[in-house]
Amino acid sequence: MELKSEDEIAILRENALIVSRTLAEVAKYIEPGVSTSELDRIAEEFLIEEGAIPGFKGYNGFPNTLCVSINEEIVHGIPGERVLKNGDIVSIDCGSIRKGYYGDSAYTFTVGDVAPEVLGLLKKTKESLFLGIEMAIAGKRVGDISSAVQDFVESFGYSVVRELVGHGIGRHLHEKPDIPNYGRQGQGVKLQEGLVICIEPMINLGTKSILQANDGWTIRTADRLPSAHFELTVVVRKEKAEILSTFKYIEEVLGPNKI
Ligand code: MG
Ligand code: MG
Repeated sequence: MELKSEDEIAILRENALIVSRTLAEVAKYIEPGVSTSELDRIAEEFLIEEGAIPGFKGYNGFPNTLCVSINEEIVHGIPGERVLKNGDIVSIDCGSIRKGYYGDSAYTFTVGDVAPEVLGLLKKTKESLFLGIEMAIAGKRVGDISSAVQDFVESFGYSVVRELVGHGIGRHLHEKPDIPNYGRQGQGVKLQEGLVICIEPMINLGTKSILQANDGWTIRTADRLPSAHFELTVVVRKEKAEILSTFKYIEEVLGPNKI
């Protein structure tokens, strides 16, 4: 587990803000009728204008800038001809590389009018992310983050994906330690100041079981009920986590009363 210097954190912050702004740019175009490849094109152009390059494109052979995962798709959906329709939810996950370091952030958007029970899943998943972030303090353990997320979402009857987890970030997209969204308080690796991690709850409305689609990438729920995903990058600090990425730009685009 590698702790980052303040100079490295400054570069990670630039990346985090670039992916945050990229997701907000994409948010402007999310509506029924838009294709997922169009969203991907918008993100790629924007990232490059911002002085970064796509972080996911070519990563283990992933073909695109964004992971776009609709409804029962949890993560790693490949953009293509599919068109968003009214009532969908769509997880957009974006990575960047700038000055040799990575950015990585995700947000699950609504498309038109979404069923109330699905809106509830999105709201609670987003809230669980911030509960996890509250635990990213030096001296706490990874299990404190994990259990904060798990206990909260399970209290609403939702389930936590086990096979996919948050992670450290730096010169590599996925660094140690893993940050599971399930676990026990007081267990796991001790958090130290300067550790930079991505916390990313992936929470299902139904069963926690997942399957991989035939495209070799897309992960979906086994029962085909919807799944939500939100991700931010934080620095472990002594008193309170420092959040490097932000949903502020997205929320400005969405306006009040929208998730
Ligand atoms: Mg991500
Ligand atoms: Mg990530």
